[in-house]
Amino acid sequence: MSTNNISSTGKVILAGAGPGDPDLITLKALRYLQIADVVIADRLVSAELLTRHVKPGAKVFHVGKQASKNESTSQEVINGLLVEHARNNQLVVRLKGGDVSFFSNVLDELQTLTQHQIPFEIIPGVTAASGAAAYAGIPLTARGYASSVRFLSYNQTISWEETYWNELAATEDTLVFYMSIDRLGVVVERLLANGISSDKCIAVVEQATTPLQNVQVFSLAGFSFETEGIRFTSPTLVIIGRVVALNKEFQWVPNSKTDDVYFTPLK
Ligand code: SAH
Repeated sequence: MSTNNISSTGKVILAGAGPGDPDLITLKALRYLQIADVVIADRLVSAELLTRHVKPGAKVFHVGKQASKNESTSQEVINGLLVEHARNNQLVVRLKGGDVSFFSNVLDELQTLTQHQIPFEIIPGVTAASGAAAYAGIPLTARGYASSVRFLSYNQTISWEETYWNELAATEDTLVFYMSIDRLGVVVERLLANGISSDKCIAVVEQATTPLQNVQVFSLAGFSFETEGIRFTSPTLVIIGRVVALNKEFQWVPNSKTDDVYFTPLK
């Protein structure tokens, strides 16, 4: 079957919605969204994207999850919705923030779909790292500054050996941290303890690519002092490396200077 044949039922489309700006979705995902009977959306999917493009009469389920909050839709419930609606011969679009492959529970959903022999497609999206890098003017592998980039997460469930911290402190790779804001103090402290170079900086990009974006750059050494009392607005992406300095020259989106929220938080 041609991948351009998008009129199909009894099928699940696992698609990335992009990081915030509703215009950052791919044309392919958008076409499916416009004809979907059922849309199952994560918390970090732009509400504007849904109001603009979901067809009248389509069912929309908000199945947000937020690591720090108790209230969230369980993965079993989400899996159940996928199966139930696809079995009813509906075209189901499962929209995830950013790209489906990065720090999302796509594996669980893929396993459910194959177990139930439900056809599916995966459509990539702009991951938060790409969105934040672009809208903050921080090219992640800028020549002369870094030659590789690592996408990491250091959240409550993760613990790393000292040798790994040592490697992260020594590497010339740009480090991008997802879902790590609550433990950023520890990250900075471990990197400093392992001798990270003082010409690397840290950028915290809040609500990247949305009209409420704010980018703040800190020195690693002064991070704890400079951020005392600051509460960052979710979602937040952290970029560490020499490339962060480029923000000063290439920032093209002014900071919104507000802490209003673009994505509705869970209770
Ligand atoms: N699949 C998503 C990531 C989901 S994990 C992607 O590819 O982008 C959720 C984490 O992504 C958040 O905790 C945050 O670190 C990051 N994130 C997602 N959207 C963001 C945004 N608009 N601005 C800043 N960080 C974002």
